[in-house]
Amino acid sequence: MVKILGIIGGGQLGMMITEAAKKMPEHISKIIVLDPTENCSAAQVGAEQIVADFKDKDAIIDLANKSDIITYEIESGDSDVLKSVEKNAEINPSPETLRIIQDKVLQKSFLLENDIPIPGFIKIEKIDDIKDNVKNFGFPVLLKARRDAYDGRGNFKIDSEDKIQKAFDYFKGQNLLLEKFVPFKMEVSVIASRNTKGQIKTYPLVENIHEENILRETIAPARVTEEVTKKAEQIAEKIMSVLQGAGTFGIEMFVTQDDNIVINEIAPRVHNSGHHTLQSSETSQFEQHLRAILGLELGGTKLIHNTIMYNILGTKEFEGEYQPLDISNDNLFLKMYGKRISKPLRKLGHFNLVGTNGESIDQLLQKLEILKEKTIVISA
Ligand code: AMP
Repeated sequence: MVKILGIIGGGQLGMMITEAAKKMPEHISKIIVLDPTENCSAAQVGAEQIVADFKDKDAIIDLANKSDIITYEIESGDSDVLKSVEKNAEINPSPETLRIIQDKVLQKSFLLENDIPIPGFIKIEKIDDIKDNVKNFGFPVLLKARRDAYDGRGNFKIDSEDKIQKAFDYFKGQNLLLEKFVPFKMEVSVIASRNTKGQIKTYPLVENIHEENILRETIAPARVTEEVTKKAEQIAEKIMSVLQGAGTFGIEMFVTQDDNIVINEIAPRVHNSGHHTLQSSETSQFEQHLRAILGLELGGTKLIHNTIMYNILGTKEFEGEYQPLDISNDNLFLKMYGKRISKPLRKLGHFNLVGTNGESIDQLLQKLEILKEKTIVISA
């Protein structure tokens, strides 16, 4: 049966899911996104749009009535509302999986129960809980919001006693947790998919470089030993099998100083660190997500070329319309997200620098250094 796909969120991830869906007309006849920004990124590439807030219950009901299958590009959806519309449309990943993942305490407790390595953490209800627990954890520690945090905006590093009050006040009454700081060697991630029939596939481990808590670069494959790669991919597979949700997920991890893997967090959706798959791999993460939620056989996940993904971020001190970039060539694929206004560190696009001629990661990194200057966002 050909299906109508509903997506909650029509930003860049919704945009790239829409583009993948349009290439599958035998399975998907129409795409409708729900997004508060008029003419959002996904609408610009052919999705119909319901203009409403992500948490607008009536709009979600409307989307469910118009769609056969619903997915999302954001993890902040209201899982209770989604549960209530499950009779109208199939929802993947399931609202139950979303409920567990979107609350960091539930997510980490779930991982712990399933023997998956995570940093020590504890739920925080009052300031004294922090004071009591830093004694066990030792400085530094991270105070984190349990919900709705992304791009590092939900973290506060506490490195001494006198920062505790400031950290607590920063979150203004939100539900919190305290987490042990991991002095990691590298940040890595695995993009993993599970289809509605239980088939699981993982993409090769990639290395992530952040600037001010925002992903800046993904290096595929990660520069680690085969043993570390194997460990990470096995853990990712285990997570997918215990979580049960269908779809493509981004699993963020730390490589510790002694080459062990610790999970940072799971995103129940396609992930920025998987954008390289658009040109580097047998199947893109966006097509894989659709294959997973439609119950189709998952595509191959082999990395065909070494690739570096670089995010185009808004320049720090600038807000407004910006000059278009012109850098594409045979092995450089620029993807802009159609956002008219640049804001400090806003994700405006990305490019994939692909080693189509067999370039090594070092060679690609050298090329990247020159390109960085050409992708600085400036006023139009
Ligand atoms: P998050 O939003 O929780 O993924 O955190 C954003 C970034 O903060 C991560 O990419 C890490 O660089 C850093 N971070 C988060 N948790 C920890 C931790 N327990 N130890 C060290 N760094 C962390």
